[in-house]
Amino acid sequence: MGFFHEKVSRIVSIVKDELSKQGVSSSSHQHSSDHRPPQPPFHSRPPQPQATPFPGSTRPTPHHPPPPNDPRSYQLTQTLYTPPPMATTASSPTAPCPYPFHLRIETLSHPAVALLFRALPHLPTLLPQLHTIITTLLYPHHPPPEVRSVTLFIRPMPGVAYTTGTRLDEAHKEIHLSADYILSCCHGSDPSTDAARRAEIEGVLLHELVHCLQFSKGCPGGLIEGIADFVRLRGGKGAKHWKREGGKKGDWCGGYSRTGYFLDWLEESYGPGTVAWVNESMREKKYSDEVFRDITGTGVHGLWKRYKRTYELEGRDDGSDDERDC
Ligand SMILES: [Zn+2]
Repeated sequence: MGFFHEKVSRIVSIVKDELSKQGVSSSSHQHSSDHRPPQPPFHSRPPQPQATPFPGSTRPTPHHPPPPNDPRSYQLTQTLYTPPPMATTASSPTAPCPYPFHLRIETLSHPAVALLFRALPHLPTLLPQLHTIITTLLYPHHPPPEVRSVTLFIRPMPGVAYTTGTRLDEAHKEIHLSADYILSCCHGSDPSTDAARRAEIEGVLLHELVHCLQFSKGCPGGLIEGIADFVRLRGGKGAKHWKREGGKKGDWCGGYSRTGYFLDWLEESYGPGTVAWVNESMREKKYSDEVFRDITGTGVHGLWKRYKRTYELEGRDDGSDDERDC
């Protein structure tokens, strides 16, 4: 019995040990691949590091006072535009396009359709690339407004192109591109014109896509069109026939490439993101000419004067043409 008792005791002891081991091993199994030290309660954790701000998300500080008559070395002044505080962080301009593109061809038999796809076989990838150009130039500081979809309509119509929101939802955009213009823009259907047609249509699509994404609250039409052509210029998709133009006091917002070149000079003179701040100023508030003074320290008419002087463009700036103000 003694031997039996001793045997039973040993067995009981082994079973106890085994159970004890299992207990230990089952409680450690859940964390066997987790070597983190115990975490303090959430509320007592040290603050987590913030995401690195996107380059250009803070305004540069001025270094030197502006030398007179030298716009290219003119630095930002102390009267800087202070953007409204944003709840969201700017997304990278190179982030994938966050909305889908759709294509609607209304008259498939129109000869422009075949020409379009011959000149722009990369259309599916082109449109997201154009989106990236826009966000890089106009939204280095804050995210662009929400767009849920962009539908490109190819249809016979007069004119070149226009952009609109749908009747039910402004966040769904439509770009209407004239099939007749695709046909006529580059003189004929010869394959040798494909490169010219490609350049022209890419530029038109970029211009229209800017309208889908830009702010325009209270903005004069000339500035709206000028910002769109500024993006064309800076995106390397300006038209060949464009040239810098001067003009009177208010002609800075004459629109299209005239204003586009002026804004291009502004960006060159005051640094990348300058035109983005002009656009950004209309996110919450109505447009005012004063935004140019806030950003650069100089009123828009003074800037226009300086721009014309830089490129020796013609145009009077006496007080007689005040009515031409935007
Ligand atoms: Zn336009």
